[in-house]
Amino acid sequence: MKQRLALLGSTGSIGRQTLDIVRRRPEEFEITTLTAGNQWEELARQALEFHPDSVVIANKQHYAPLCEALAKEPIKVYAGSEALEQVVGGGEVDTVVNALVGYAGMLPSLAAVKASKRLALANKESLVVAGEHIIREAAAHNVPILPIDSEHSAIFQCLAGESSAPRRVIITASGGPFLRTPAEELERVSVAQALAHPNWSMGAKITIDSSTLVNKGFEVIEARWLFGLRPEQIDVLVHPQSIVHSMVEFDDGAIKAQLGTPDMHLPIQYALRFPERGELGEERLDFAKCATLTFEKPDTERFPLLNTAYECLRRGGNSCCVMNGSNEVAVAAFLAGEIKYTDIARVIIGTLERAQFVAAPTIEEYAASNQESRAISSEIASRLRLK
Ligand code: NDP
Ligand code: MG
Repeated sequence: MKQRLALLGSTGSIGRQTLDIVRRRPEEFEITTLTAGNQWEELARQALEFHPDSVVIANKQHYAPLCEALAKEPIKVYAGSEALEQVVGGGEVDTVVNALVGYAGMLPSLAAVKASKRLALANKESLVVAGEHIIREAAAHNVPILPIDSEHSAIFQCLAGESSAPRRVIITASGGPFLRTPAEELERVSVAQALAHPNWSMGAKITIDSSTLVNKGFEVIEARWLFGLRPEQIDVLVHPQSIVHSMVEFDDGAIKAQLGTPDMHLPIQYALRFPERGELGEERLDFAKCATLTFEKPDTERFPLLNTAYECLRRGGNSCCVMNGSNEVAVAAFLAGEIKYTDIARVIIGTLERAQFVAAPTIEEYAASNQESRAISSEIASRLRLK
């Protein structure tokens, strides 16, 4: 029987690469749902190619033209973010691939595991915001969460077949476009410079997050929940070549690593076909061509937000949710040309100082905390804009 996929965020970077995998393996996969935020024309094109049962456009403004584009097809068309939570629970879905970006992915992840669906997870923000709830529900419903994020896929691959718990994991970071940029120049970097990631081609938000090391901080939080680790068991090393995707150390001192070219098709396919691997016609790693693999400690003076993520993780409660909401506002303001690159850290650190701490938040309290942190961050960003 084919594996039936609900693909959330099908018009994005991970979403399109997931469709590449489905396109190559029509005998294995079937698309039951596709969803987009704003790109309704691309969503309609995808629907005509993959014949899902339903599509969702999150921005309701695009509902009418999308309906018109699909009028001749037997495809149900829904609009609004609430519809995302409903489609993931449908009886005809085996696996939910969550390739949404940001806080918007959290409730659909939770709805997926509550409906006992396998969750192939790219949306790390789900676990940053509400990791404890999502992991608990996945365990209660006995469903796996299969990581798509390349570092977590690497760790997952290193743990396959091991019955011993890891002593430590080492998450690698490319260091982003500003790895060697002097601190005084960071103040003036442009949006285009920040979007020019040296190794990976990704959506705009994660590309900025990679350059500030917020992405790496979020990956530390993601690893904490996915693999049940304490913060001190998770290290980060800068590895500019992005060949070693991450490593796991065991009690006897053995270290396992997963290596490969920087290409998300591999972790996506691994998540979808786990525990099987399969042919993937992508470029192969040639050791003779990458003779030098280097590792160094991250510079937390120039990139303080990695430590901020560790602090939020240690503080617990809603702290990571606050950091996430604040980061979304700060990154959007930077991308819109409203604040400077280094203001991203100012917005986040300022918001964490002011947001209300909630020790054991419910899902409703996470929503309120997300709203509060966004409001505080917008206010800080608009004051910085005036300077
Ligand atoms: P993109 O920005 O390329 O795509 C995001 C997708 O989500 C699009 O389909 C977009 O729709 C949709 N979307 C955005 N906002 C909303 C919303 N509010 N409600 C509903 N749908 C929405 O992101 P990426 O593919 O780069 O990243 C997706 C996730 O995967 C992120 O969490 C990221 O951190 C993670 N990830 C990405 C990697 C990569 O290589 N890209 C690597 C590892 C992790 P539309 O475009 O139609 O508006
Ligand atoms: Mg990653």
